[in-house]
Amino acid sequence: MGKELNKGEILERIKNEEAEEAIRAAKSPQDRLAELQLAELEEKLTAKKVEDENLRKLRLINALEAKRKEEERVMTQSLCNHRKPNNNPAVVAYRAQDYVEQFICQNCFKEWYGDQVPTGLRPLREHIGGSI
Ligand SMILES: [Zn+2]
Repeated sequence: MGKELNKGEILERIKNEEAEEAIRAAKSPQDRLAELQLAELEEKLTAKKVEDENLRKLRLINALEAKRKEEERVMTQSLCNHRKPNNNPAVVAYRAQDYVEQFICQNCFKEWYGDQVPTGLRPLREHIGGSI
C-alpha cells in the first residue's frame, strides 16, 4: 500500500496542476507581442486605406472641376467674336523674346501664336508691343 496523501498534499497537487494548465493556456510573451504588432499594423493599414480613398475622391472632384472649367472656357471662347462693342478687334499682341507674336482676346482670353490669329483680328503691326 503506497503512502496516502494527506489533505494538504492533495490540495497542493491540484494547485500545481491548475498552474501548469494555466501556463500551457497562456500565450508566450513573443506570441502576445506578435499579436499586438499585428493589431497595430492592421490599424495602420486601415487608416492608410481610408486616407488613400479620401485622396482618390478629392482628386476625382478636382479633375471633374478642372474638366468643367475647361468646357466652360471652350464654350465662352467659341461664343466670343473677339471684338469690342465698337466692332474693333479686342485682340492685343506682344512679341516675346523668341520673336514669336502672341495674341490674346481681352474678352475671353483666347490665345493665338504667330499666324494662328485670324487675319481680321490681327492688331496693326505698330500696336504689337514687346521686343523689337
Ligand atoms: Zn474672345
